[in-house]
Amino acid sequence: PSTLYIVATPIGNLADISQRALTILEHVDVIACEDTRHTQKLLSAYSIKNKTLSLHDHNETYRQTQIEEMLNEGKSIALVSDAGTPLISDPGYHIVSYLKQLNHKVVPIPGACAAITALSAAGLATDKFSFEGFLPSKQGARQKVLTELVNESRTMVFYDAPRRAIDTVGDIVEVFGSDRKIVIARELTKTFETIHSDTAGDFLKWLEQDPNQLKGEMVLIIEGFKADPNAIPNKAIETLKILLTHMK
Ligand code: SAM
Repeated sequence: PSTLYIVATPIGNLADISQRALTILEHVDVIACEDTRHTQKLLSAYSIKNKTLSLHDHNETYRQTQIEEMLNEGKSIALVSDAGTPLISDPGYHIVSYLKQLNHKVVPIPGACAAITALSAAGLATDKFSFEGFLPSKQGARQKVLTELVNESRTMVFYDAPRRAIDTVGDIVEVFGSDRKIVIARELTKTFETIHSDTAGDFLKWLEQDPNQLKGEMVLIIEGFKADPNAIPNKAIETLKILLTHMK
């Protein structure tokens, strides 16, 4: 009792939900949903009849007080988003940080997350990675974000819209060069699931040949920067530059 459960839900295939998640969704006093109609489909698929209320970016502060009151009355609440793990590029951060400050019990119920699902089958290094969230939709902002990551040695994971894939991969070629390896994991767990890996340059050609690749949802993964063992270190170049100015 008196717990906020953060419940991960499927990212496409409705079977990707844990037994524990289903039990909790059935037994809590209310389910706080990003979109109640969307969550209703999941609940109906498992014949779960329970109360729902909407909690999204625009009413999170107002709901905070309401949910806190329910917890104070000894009630339990489940928080779900439309797909995957709440708070991961989804609503929930404000309420979780607020309730944690007030020492309320917050319990995570693990499950699908598109970023981790994509990484697990991408074939790029997974020992260290950086989750970068959504790429900006405007080109200038997107190029700025990518440029700041040009020397990032960890694998980089982004959420992006496939309809922008050609523009985004074009920017990757420009910023990281055409030889950088990338992976696009599209429609994960769904009928048209495609996980394609290539160098950024060849990826662009592949995308341009197949318009179907520009549909649905995708995770974009960029291989981390690998220093060329034969390259002259930046420090040495800087030192040489200083020496040269003294030789003039
Ligand atoms: N909370 C979710 C999670 O745990 O992955 C992410 C929510 S975010 C609003 C939605 C984005 O996640 C999509 O735009 C896409 O980048 C990615 N995504 C969600 N489901 C996906 C799927 N089935 N295949 C590929 N990417 C997916």
